[in-house]
Amino acid sequence: LVESVDHLLHEFQRGLEQRDHLHRLSRHDGLTGIANRRYFDTFLAHQWEQAAVANAPIAVIFIDIDSFKAFNDHYGHTLGDDTLKRVAKALDRCIDSQSDLLARYGGEEFVCVLPGQDIHGALSRANHMRQAVMTLAIPHARGAAESILTISMGVASARPTPGEGPDRLLNEADARLYEAKNRGRNRIEAFKSV
Ligand code: GH3
Ligand code: MG
Ligand code: MG
Repeated sequence: LVESVDHLLHEFQRGLEQRDHLHRLSRHDGLTGIANRRYFDTFLAHQWEQAAVANAPIAVIFIDIDSFKAFNDHYGHTLGDDTLKRVAKALDRCIDSQSDLLARYGGEEFVCVLPGQDIHGALSRANHMRQAVMTLAIPHARGAAESILTISMGVASARPTPGEGPDRLLNEADARLYEAKNRGRNRIEAFKSV
């Protein structure tokens, strides 16, 4: 009897570990270890609702590595992967993990959710991130403006209005990122909708 109970407990423990593992896989990006796109969607939807209830602002930052295709072509995909991990880590150190979320949005793009932040708070966070990546001083012989790896960012902040979802906020941040690219890269553009 003791042996079978032991066996049962062991199987139960294994079940729990498997569940945790699957849970982690469903939320995290395999390469960088930060949150994945799916978890970002869930987190943003939830925080948006919270902000609506509290009549508080919420900000998002879209982050895209500059000239990363050229980086891969020049240095190889393996160093490219390694660089994605380093950038993710540097960005993650700039956020407050208690309240904010950094996720890999896809490819060489990241997104950050900052509950409670107006455009000024979000801009200061974005500046911190831009500096953090430059501080890594990753050589990029074929970069746009600098000889080191840089990022461009689009920032937007809004207060949810009744019946509205976060789509407009995302579109604004995305449009500002596009603008940052067009204006020469390694820069931040921002939109305020309050
Ligand atoms: P821009 O400054 O306009 O953002 O130019 P870009 O070259 O960064 O943008 P583009 O979208 O043309 O290329 C993105 C490149 O990112 C394509 C691909 O080589 C690289 N990339 C995307 N995902 C990964 C990945 O998981 N690993 C590696 N090593 N490279 C990736
Ligand atoms: Mg891109
Ligand atoms: Mg890019």
